[in-house]
Amino acid sequence: MLINNDTIIKDTDERIRLVSEDVPLPLSAEDEALLRDMFQYVIDSTDEEKAERLNLRPAVGISAIQVGVPKKMTAIVVDDQDKNGDPVRYEFMLVNPKIVSSSIQKAYLSAGEGCLSVAEDHEGHVVRSARVKVRAYDLLRDQNIEIKAAGYLAIVLQHELDHFKGTLFYDHIDPKDPFKEVPGAIEI
Ligand SMILES: [Zn+2]
Repeated sequence: MLINNDTIIKDTDERIRLVSEDVPLPLSAEDEALLRDMFQYVIDSTDEEKAERLNLRPAVGISAIQVGVPKKMTAIVVDDQDKNGDPVRYEFMLVNPKIVSSSIQKAYLSAGEGCLSVAEDHEGHVVRSARVKVRAYDLLRDQNIEIKAAGYLAIVLQHELDHFKGTLFYDHIDPKDPFKEVPGAIEI
């Protein structure tokens, strides 16, 4: 599937609010091809030359509903730092990911969140769990995995899995008090 900034559906399209369905495993050839195309989108989107040439908006993740397919599949590529401050890249092609536990402690990105399906800026704190444990089938590794995520990766996972419920990041922003302080929350 051709995925670019013109084919990605925006929040003006009501399909973005659809609830996504579980995907049968093993993957059909069609589902596998879509997930691989989504992953390639995210990889290419951070390459300045390709992004410009192919009309890609930079992203760390994309979910299938964003190309109009209501199936629980998401591709994620996150560059972060490990506990020692060394660069680390997290890459996943997840099918039927499920959050199995979440920390009570909260976290939010100080710069706020963005989304391929949201054209405008929506400023404010998107408060999420600071740590999540996710179970999924990962096409990249061809096995079931458990991800223990903290920090930026935990935020990205929650953002992408929200798409399966038809939830967008700005749904979490309090319109009356967008920068409301949350006691004990980690600012990332
Ligand atoms: Zn999004």
